[in-house]
Amino acid sequence: LETSGTDMLHFDVMDGRFVDNISFGIPVLEAIRKKTDLFLDVHLMISDPLHYAARFAKAGANGITFHLESESDPQKTIDAIHACGIPAGIVIKPNTPAEAVLPYLSSVEMVLVMTVEPGFGGQSFLHSTMPKLHQIRQWIDEQNPACELEVDGGVNVETAKICRDNGANVLVAGSAYFKAADPAAFVRAVKA
Ligand code: ZN
Repeated sequence: LETSGTDMLHFDVMDGRFVDNISFGIPVLEAIRKKTDLFLDVHLMISDPLHYAARFAKAGANGITFHLESESDPQKTIDAIHACGIPAGIVIKPNTPAEAVLPYLSSVEMVLVMTVEPGFGGQSFLHSTMPKLHQIRQWIDEQNPACELEVDGGVNVETAKICRDNGANVLVAGSAYFKAADPAAFVRAVKA
């Protein structure tokens, strides 16, 4: 795989229930695993992540994040991911309050703040999510400084800087990366 200086590959799983779109699942993850040693950051946009977490881990996920808005019990899902020996992350949608992450902040390795509504690529960045990102960064620094803070959706060179200024340290880019004339230059610009 040509990865242009990226640090991980973010893998968006959509089940047609939790979000109104279907992307790809376990066999595709297994196929990608065979092609790269890059960290595979699996983002489950599915209704029942507890049921599927172990299978995605077995397929090669290096880390799994799931939505607090899903139907699964969050702590049980975190524990199930940890039982596979990999880091666990929690995700919140744009309209979910920052406080939703607090009960789990000490037991996860990542918090992912969605900066668009999950389900489709190519959406515009929601600036309204930045105060929430900033608040969660403060809580992470106080309670679990090793925890990563990730953003996903509408990330380009301009919005990447805004996300970093508000505390994100892991940035997911989709459309902006794939549409860039020079993806490696895009990655350098985002990291600069
Ligand atoms: Zn994602």
